[in-house]
Amino acid sequence: MEIKTEGNNDFIKEISSMPGGEKINLCIQCGTCSGSCPNANKMDYTPRELIAMARAGMRDQVLSSNSMWLCLSCYMCTVRCPRGIVPTYIMHALEHLAMRHHVSSPRTRTPTLYKVFSKTVHDVGYIPRFGCMGRFYLQVNPFGAIKNIPVALSLLQHGRMPITQARKLKPESLRQFQAILDKAETLGRHLERKELKTLISGRT
Ligand code: SF4
Ligand code: SF4
Repeated sequence: MEIKTEGNNDFIKEISSMPGGEKINLCIQCGTCSGSCPNANKMDYTPRELIAMARAGMRDQVLSSNSMWLCLSCYMCTVRCPRGIVPTYIMHALEHLAMRHHVSSPRTRTPTLYKVFSKTVHDVGYIPRFGCMGRFYLQVNPFGAIKNIPVALSLLQHGRMPITQARKLKPESLRQFQAILDKAETLGRHLERKELKTLISGRT
């Protein structure tokens, strides 16, 4: 049974066309995903609400929310969904769409963290234990690093953050990894241009 969406909803078509978004119209709004989500109380909208809003065509509200960026990819919603939907993938699809449409939320810094993470590995071939977070905090809030020093010390104390340097990618592996990231960036730009053209032609 597929639930009907409201009117000519381009947003839901966009989500459905993305990997993992195909089953969004099977949602029966039971709320099991929201009840299972460990981060739902920090999200602007719970996973169930996001799906309902997407089906109502509320593109701007959905993409400018912090919800998908707070998804931990724990898959609790996915293993419990009675309709075989993968809300985790829907969250990822919404992250992609928000990036693609240059929509951001002031209530999350996750997109910056993603960028810093991939740029760091792209540049040096490994994640420097402190360098990566240092770069991140410099961009978002240098004083935030000070606040998190007790967390870092606790991680060190419990052996969850070794002080030895992380293993570096071999030069050939690094070249391959850089090629993958560069290709992804080029494809992303190509997609943006294509969508911009579609948008402009739709308005004329
Ligand atoms: S658990 Fe599945 S069917 Fe229920 S609201 Fe969430 S996505 Fe929809
Ligand atoms: S995968 Fe994401 S949306 Fe699903 S329960 Fe975990 S944190 Fe919540």
